[in-house]
Amino acid sequence: MNFKEIIEQVYYRVKGTDDIGKLPTYIPQLANVDPQSFGVYISTIDQVNFGIGNCYDKFSIQSIAKVLSLTLAYQILGEKVWERVGVEPSGTPFNSLVQLETDNGIPRNPFINAGAIVISDILVSNLKNPKEDFLTFVRSISNNSDLNYSPRIAASEKEIGFRNVALCNFIKSFGNIKNDPSEVLDFYFDLCSIEMNCKELSETFLFFANNGHNILDNTSILSRSQTKRINAIMLTCGFYDESGDFAFKVGLPGKSGVGGGIIAIHPNQYTIAVWSPKLNKKGNSYKGMRFLEEFTTKSELSIF
Ligand code: GLU
Repeated sequence: MNFKEIIEQVYYRVKGTDDIGKLPTYIPQLANVDPQSFGVYISTIDQVNFGIGNCYDKFSIQSIAKVLSLTLAYQILGEKVWERVGVEPSGTPFNSLVQLETDNGIPRNPFINAGAIVISDILVSNLKNPKEDFLTFVRSISNNSDLNYSPRIAASEKEIGFRNVALCNFIKSFGNIKNDPSEVLDFYFDLCSIEMNCKELSETFLFFANNGHNILDNTSILSRSQTKRINAIMLTCGFYDESGDFAFKVGLPGKSGVGGGIIAIHPNQYTIAVWSPKLNKKGNSYKGMRFLEEFTTKSELSIF
């Protein structure tokens, strides 16, 4: 059976299962989606692509964007980026404050909120027009000018973002935020509000499967070693405190977001994006996790 047939078979099986996930409500506008949406799109480095279901509907990629902000910060600072943020799984929820106290304001990794806020600070320091320049970067690595922030989602998060405000101020008290916290948070909320559909998401992340090279023009976005390192952090830290479980069941580097999206990467082979907005207890897409587990099991296309 080829991978398209497996995707179809697994898609319809998972679509028909009882969905015990819940829409996130803590960012009010995130709950403003059709809960039954379910899309999948695979892009291979040989340019064989296939999508199914709601794969052309845009959704809020939320924390998945943290991989892209890290990519740009890593391009700019090189290995110095790791002086500001660690590379260890936190084992705590994505918005936790507790470890910062003992870790002197150095977040455990760039994918928890604390770490992404520090990366946002780095970009605010190093980009001339941070929000515009970052969007230009995302559009260029994805070969797609139709990518945007969602002002509606960003405003909705700003209204309730008290924990992120607390995180940013707390890290600032340790000296690991250099700019005005309100400017850093403004960038961070826009970052999380980027919208993509599954096709766009899988295409944007294809350079992680292609040793850091843009698939269309072969330009280098990250070095081979930098690409390996970010893939490694995705494998160990990409799914909140369910990262071990994802590696165990799916066996791919990846990143999820509370908008219900998941991107997973098989280096040298393919990327696959899944979107279904109802989340499990750990904040990952319920159907997305189930789909990817069955897909890599049936196709044997995991990295292990
Ligand atoms: N914007 C979300 C927050 O800061 C991102 C959460 C996520 O997708 O993990 O709470």
